Amino acid sequence: MRAIRVKEFGGAEVLRLEDIPEPVAGKGQVIIRIKAAGVNPVDTYIRAGIYPRKPALPYTPGADGAGVVESVGEGVTRLKVGDRVYVGGGFTGTYAELALFDELSVWPLPPGVSFSQGAAVNVPYVTAFRGLFQRAHARGGETVLVHGASGGVGIAAVQLARAAGLRVVGSAGTERGRKLVADEGAHVVLDHTAPDHFEKAMAQTNGRGYDVILEMLANVNLGRDLPLLAMYGRAVIIGSRGTVEVNPRDAMGKDATILGVALPNIKPDELISIHSALVAGLENKTLRPVVGQELPLPEAPRAHAAVLAPGSYGKIVLIP
Ligand code: NAP
Repeated sequence: MRAIRVKEFGGAEVLRLEDIPEPVAGKGQVIIRIKAAGVNPVDTYIRAGIYPRKPALPYTPGADGAGVVESVGEGVTRLKVGDRVYVGGGFTGTYAELALFDELSVWPLPPGVSFSQGAAVNVPYVTAFRGLFQRAHARGGETVLVHGASGGVGIAAVQLARAAGLRVVGSAGTERGRKLVADEGAHVVLDHTAPDHFEKAMAQTNGRGYDVILEMLANVNLGRDLPLLAMYGRAVIIGSRGTVEVNPRDAMGKDATILGVALPNIKPDELISIHSALVAGLENKTLRPVVGQELPLPEAPRAHAAVLAPGSYGKIVLIP
């Protein structure tokens, strides 16, 4: 089968298309024929060798994807050959024609949800759900700032928060991105490149502040997020690419909380609860993954450059 392989950590040029042996499903495992693979920023950190968790070389990148069950191993009861599914976190990487998963990492793709949309579910929606509901305990009636709402996690957060009855303020850096954020359900959309962005963000709450802030670029924003929090507010760090200075008093005076999110820390029962909610949201169409760009699998290097570029618009997926 054809797969993208990384033989050494480095720039996007180390992503090479190769022919490699097909995986075989063992006990409790399934093989998925990948129809679309989701590209996440973390794929680029792992490829560059700057992520704390380094895979053994050579490896095939990709944790997200969607496709059809090709074969099942002994003891698999939840799935059968031909089922349409989305996946999360397999053994062999989704930038490939076939990939190997534990049965519990495979979830049904409801009718009407495309394979490319399915490839946009796992990391973005699990992260947004985890941040909003399992870490910040966001509730209907609260106000959330999705700081960086135009990308994969941001669009997911806007849809999830809107469906749960929060007042949603989202930000994006381009006109196209801001229109998308509004179309996907944000009540108010801000430009995070505007010089008076933080003043405008506070004005949207009439000076009360935000109950929850989901932060996609904490190294740039966290120091100015804390003064935007309401009493008992929660700032959730989802993305960060460096260090930042904060004034601890901005949290102290409001009993505010700064929360981290890292997907590997989610416990198995919490993950089942998240995916069960996501499948329900896909079924009832409150969750509608947005795919901004589909590229053929050999163009993985271009996808890795694009996912780090400004001007996000939903997800980038690779088509084997
Ligand atoms: P993405 O699709 O590339 O989107 C990036 C988002 O960040 C876009 O909305 C972008 O907006 C926004 N952004 C750019 N400059 C910003 C600024 N100054 N202030 C606020 N937002 C800004 O990436 P993603 O998949 O949504 O992931 C977002 C971040 O979370 C990444 O750093 C990723 O590595 C991280 N992440 C972490 C976890 C975890 O477990 N902690 C899981 C998933 C993702 P414009 O392009 O419109 O400017």
